Amino acid sequence: MEHQEIKDLLALAALDRLEGEEARALSHHLAAGCDECEAELREFREVAASLALALEPAGSPVRILNRLDERLAASAESSPWSRPIRRGQELVPVASSQLIRWRAATAIATAALIAASAFAILSINRAAHLQAQFERQMATRDAQLRELHTRLASSRGEIITLERVLRDKARLDQILMAPDLRLTRLEPLKPAPRGAGLVAVSNVNHTALLQVSGLPPTPSDKTYELWWITRESGPIKAGLFQVEGPGTVIAQAEPPPAGQHALLSAVTLEPAGGSNSPTGAMYLKGVAG
Ligand SMILES: [Zn+2]
Repeated sequence: MEHQEIKDLLALAALDRLEGEEARALSHHLAAGCDECEAELREFREVAASLALALEPAGSPVRILNRLDERLAASAESSPWSRPIRRGQELVPVASSQLIRWRAATAIATAALIAASAFAILSINRAAHLQAQFERQMATRDAQLRELHTRLASSRGEIITLERVLRDKARLDQILMAPDLRLTRLEPLKPAPRGAGLVAVSNVNHTALLQVSGLPPTPSDKTYELWWITRESGPIKAGLFQVEGPGTVIAQAEPPPAGQHALLSAVTLEPAGGSNSPTGAMYLKGVAG
């Protein structure tokens, strides 16, 4: 990079805004010994440093500009330009003082521009930093909140499952204590060779419970259906149940209607919603006790 290109980068360099190739070109140029760029970078750095001071804790562009203005005016007065020039024995102060004022005004205007730009850059950087910090915090909170929602949902699921298990257990206890308890063991048939089931009925409590295991999970368009095969009316619908996994399923069912005597109990696979008489494959069957 040429000297002039490097000079254009100095203001940015003083604010640490140079990166990569530009930063390398500048350090090469300075290492090669350009006094002019070196001096100018130092001045820019001083301006930037005084800006940073003015910004802490609170600075306004007006205050910073006033401060720069004072500094530049003071240095203009102490510079050789401010002393009257001797030409022979004659003093020629008028023209040179105009020149000083003009140079000082130009310098102040330039410095003011740099100061305003630097202030804008620092403010933007600070705002961007605060915004990034805020966004990081919000992202963390969001993640924590989602995690809590997930845990809450899973806890609710567990509570619902526990409630169902307790309800089933209470019903089972109630039936097992009934004076007219009748148990029917269901034996596996061809579609579910490892299936097993037990039906408990109490007409006194008007309750029936079915417990099954070893049945394949219910297909989404089907349902398992329990039947009473009665002496009086043949198959009577007793209840529907689903199998979701490998565990044991306990389901409530209707006891056989009053006056009907169940000879058999059976489980078939039926279209979703159930049928009024068995249409699908039989999975379990047992002779009523
Ligand atoms: Zn240079």
